[in-house]
Amino acid sequence: EGDLDLLELSDDYPDGIFYLPALPVLAIVGRPNVGKSALVNRILGRREAVVEDTPGVTRDRVAYKAEWNGRRFTLVDTGGWEPDASGINAAVAAQAEVAIDLADVVLFVVDSNVGATATDEHVVKLLRRANRPVFLAANKVDDVRQEPGASALWSLGLGEPYPVSALHGRGVADLLDIIMEKMPEVSNVAKQEVGGPRRVAILGRPNVGKSSLLNKAAGEERVVVNEMAGTTRDPVDEQIELGGKVWTFVDTAGIRKRVHLQQGADFYASLRTSAALEKAEVAVVVLDVTEPISVQDLRIIDLVLESGRALVLAFNKWDLLDDERRRYLEREIEQDLAHVTWAPRVNISARTGRHLERLVPALELALDSWDTRIPTGKFNAFLAELTAAHPHPVRGGKQPRILFGTQAASRPPTFVLFATGFLDPGYRRYVQRRLREIYGFEGSPIVVNMRVRE
Ligand code: GDP
Repeated sequence: EGDLDLLELSDDYPDGIFYLPALPVLAIVGRPNVGKSALVNRILGRREAVVEDTPGVTRDRVAYKAEWNGRRFTLVDTGGWEPDASGINAAVAAQAEVAIDLADVVLFVVDSNVGATATDEHVVKLLRRANRPVFLAANKVDDVRQEPGASALWSLGLGEPYPVSALHGRGVADLLDIIMEKMPEVSNVAKQEVGGPRRVAILGRPNVGKSSLLNKAAGEERVVVNEMAGTTRDPVDEQIELGGKVWTFVDTAGIRKRVHLQQGADFYASLRTSAALEKAEVAVVVLDVTEPISVQDLRIIDLVLESGRALVLAFNKWDLLDDERRRYLEREIEQDLAHVTWAPRVNISARTGRHLERLVPALELALDSWDTRIPTGKFNAFLAELTAAHPHPVRGGKQPRILFGTQAASRPPTFVLFATGFLDPGYRRYVQRRLREIYGFEGSPIVVNMRVRE
């Protein structure tokens, strides 16, 4: 009993959401075809993880959990969308911008066989403005004869080029060792002071009213604007006082400053969303009540669920809602948002300011749930009652029994059940449902995992 080792548990449950907030972030930046995917796969240690760069193809995933020498970090692959030749400069600049805003350390990848291109030089200019350690990987140095190609990259002015072969693994371990020296234990970008302001991400598809909401909320009350000495970059996070309390709104630069890219706009939006979630504890997903709930809205909610962050739904533009649309909306909510009925909902108007003050109790409720810890004794009393009322069905002549359980983590609440056999997914969902009935957990995802004990 007591606290269990999360790492050990996660081996059994690759799908489980084990989330430790504020892991440091390493972002990978570079032109298409320099081998970013291969390098990400190499760092993750599983070759099939990331597909090859294909022009015009969007990868769904952006952030990966990675580990090197026992240190865990988040690997952000900014190159998930590869533009065709005409869009390269803008796309790579957008990658660099995201990396600068959101990563603790940036790894810039260049193809040593091609040498520095104009695009590479353009990116270097952007990266040099960043107040972040930047490492230069000279990729495709498959053997020693190619090393001169790597040395030529000193000309980029980013310091020493590290020759690597992502494909064969050559040099990657040494480079990672050096990177880890500059990697903070906890993300500097997502500074997590104990008792400090809680971190909120405002998410939503374009034009739902995110920046209007932010502006209205900030109003005259903006207390602090993060100013990092010696940088010219935009403030990324803003501290805003709401309901008598200061909150950190993360990646507000991403909301205020729109990256205008015709190609790949979806990818960059999704990159921003994932990156903002990395830094946040709770997400406010803004929906536009004048339009049907869309696949894109649901995808953003899915990203929140995947990230294990707390969730509040804000239905915006309430001032424009008429009776007919309202009836449709209620039906859509019932159908499309049935899986997140536990998320607090606030009906607001960023334009008029209607009910903005209700955001605060919703955020507090969601964060309280997210932080909740149920003592092991209490949790086992709950399990005993639950299994007595509704035992696991017999499967193949056997009836798996839950021996005991414990809450292995909070943020989000993560439970582990030790059982004599494999528990049906349906039964695990039943446990989850009962947990919500008894403890609420409004605004927080909860995770129920199991381990079989012979
Ligand atoms: P973002 O892309 O999500 O940041 O959306 P914006 O904040 O730029 O808003 C998109 C458009 O919707 C703008 O024209 C806003 O003025 C408008 N808008 C935002 N919130 C509201 C609202 O509550 N009511 C009304 N009527 N319009 C809104």
